[in-house]
Amino acid sequence: HPFRSARYLLSAHNPQQLPPDGGFEVAFAGRSNAGKSSALNALCDQNALARVSKTPGRTQQLVFFEVQPQRCLVDLPGYGYAKVPEALQQHWQGFIDRYFRTRQALRGLVVVMDIRHPLKDYDRQMLGYAVARGLPAHALLTKADKLGRGQQAQTLAAVRRELAGAFGDAVGAQTFSAESRQGVDEARAVIGGWLGL
Ligand code: GDP
Repeated sequence: HPFRSARYLLSAHNPQQLPPDGGFEVAFAGRSNAGKSSALNALCDQNALARVSKTPGRTQQLVFFEVQPQRCLVDLPGYGYAKVPEALQQHWQGFIDRYFRTRQALRGLVVVMDIRHPLKDYDRQMLGYAVARGLPAHALLTKADKLGRGQQAQTLAAVRRELAGAFGDAVGAQTFSAESRQGVDEARAVIGGWLGL
């Protein structure tokens, strides 16, 4: 699979540091500690591509990983971490809003959620941003290994019902686990499709 060759490209703290707006990008969002870094590592079959965050909320930047030239995965800062100062929160908001509103390369959004706490307010807001722009989005319900098969299926069905009600067929959902590798191929297929890989 092409994600194996993903490598760190750059980190952007402001719009001027973004790479040229050509090519294809898929952004990853999620609450701090949801399992976003672990999901990125699992997708790319690498142990330390996205650092598994020790200090949630500290990195206020967009991190670009290049899968192929002009084909990037973009790690958005984790949200929902209360201890980030107000000014930083606002900087984060402004930067992400602008990236979301204006980035032509952006082809889809993955929102990583702990399957035990799906669809929190900010998750919905991110999905709403994407859909409002006409972008497809995909909910990764990760840490599925923490639940039994029955509970996983129940949660997935409930999330799909809710997403269908709110967003029609613009937002997909699947179960995932970085630990057991459940759902990794399915996620690669969705993201690879958006990236034109
Ligand atoms: P991030 O803040 O969203 O990037 O989350 P991390 O990837 O750093 O993960 C947060 C915590 O959840 C870490 O302790 C991970 O080891 C754990 N974690 C992440 N993914 C999984 C998973 O699929 N299963 C289990 N059991 N734990 C996970």
